[in-house]
Amino acid sequence: MKKIERKILLNPGPSTTTDTVKYAQVVPDICPREKEFSSLFKGLREDLVKIVHGDPDTYTSVLFCGSGTINIDVCISSLLPEGKKILVVDNGNYSARAAEIAMYYGLPCIDLKFPITEQPDLAKVEETLKNNPDIAMVYTTYQETVTGLLNPAKELGALAHQYGAVFVCDTTSVYAMRPIHIEEENIDFLMASAQKGLMAFTGISFIIGRRSIIEASRDYPKRSYYCNLYLQYEFFERTGEMHFTPPVQTIYALVQAIKEYWQEGEEGKWARHTRVYNAINKGLEELGFRQLLPAEIRAGLVSSAVYPDDPNWNFDRLHDYCYERGYTIYPGFVSSANTFRLCSLGAIDEADIEAFFEVFKDALKACNIAVPVYYAEN
Ligand SMILES: *Cc1c(COP(=O)(O)O)cnc(C)c1O
Repeated sequence: MKKIERKILLNPGPSTTTDTVKYAQVVPDICPREKEFSSLFKGLREDLVKIVHGDPDTYTSVLFCGSGTINIDVCISSLLPEGKKILVVDNGNYSARAAEIAMYYGLPCIDLKFPITEQPDLAKVEETLKNNPDIAMVYTTYQETVTGLLNPAKELGALAHQYGAVFVCDTTSVYAMRPIHIEEENIDFLMASAQKGLMAFTGISFIIGRRSIIEASRDYPKRSYYCNLYLQYEFFERTGEMHFTPPVQTIYALVQAIKEYWQEGEEGKWARHTRVYNAINKGLEELGFRQLLPAEIRAGLVSSAVYPDDPNWNFDRLHDYCYERGYTIYPGFVSSANTFRLCSLGAIDEADIEAFFEVFKDALKACNIAVPVYYAEN
């Protein structure tokens, strides 16, 4: 097996993969309706539930062919009964995307906005639930990937349930990294994609949720043909397969990635991501970078550094310098501040981050940016 040139991706997914996962895609051609392939789904669906400690009788997983956003589309369009309303607890771009999807489907939705640098005010969430008894779904993002902020999923789930709503949580940027206990954290539906925590490839995404609610959703309006949760679930339960052509090679790689997930173990993997995260924070701090969020409200996987005020600061030049040397850094896309992100996803460890900071220091020097970096305001 030829070794493939290793790239260190510090962007918020897709993540650096192992060569064994890359090569798992290279297989003889096969029709996905053959048992040899379709029999993979049973174990795969069970594993996806097991990763978040879900009871297999209570929770199930449903796969879709697409990037992570397909999950948001599916949950928003499939899980709302007629005449009911969605409440999006929105403190970042990914929750805002859910509100936008609701708008595209013409669904009643309260987009309850909070500052992107703060956890949501639970009293305001409760007040909104109290004033709108027709809210049937509360939606938020576990870690807002745009900032790295950790939302109080468990508390939001408890509030949703207290007011008779289903709690849907986008866990795409934490799943299979930071441990999640779906039921203990009051989550009815969560979601992720193969290319993030599981360190496989884009093209397959999955929703894990309560069977009883999916079954109840049989009678909800079907607002999409391809993206309906009940229809896909029903096909899986009846035939064991995806309704339409699955991404065969991507699924082989995912199965290999899950094997490697169990080998590393939940605890070992989270410890490794934490080592990477700590090394990133240490490296940023040594160079004098400020971070957008205080440590206490971060999920431990994304670091958002604020652009310094050095007149020579040029993110694109720094990016290109690092990229040419095998390291990918990523802009922030925060509207209220200029930031860039360094993320702790993927098959990387502390030593990769130390090597990255050597390159990054050279990049700062090449751009004539003073170190420690300079901020106009104290
Ligand atoms: C990455 C990510 C997604 C999926 O984005 P795609 O570009 O569609 O793969 C969804 N939600 C969150 C929180 C994410 O971090």
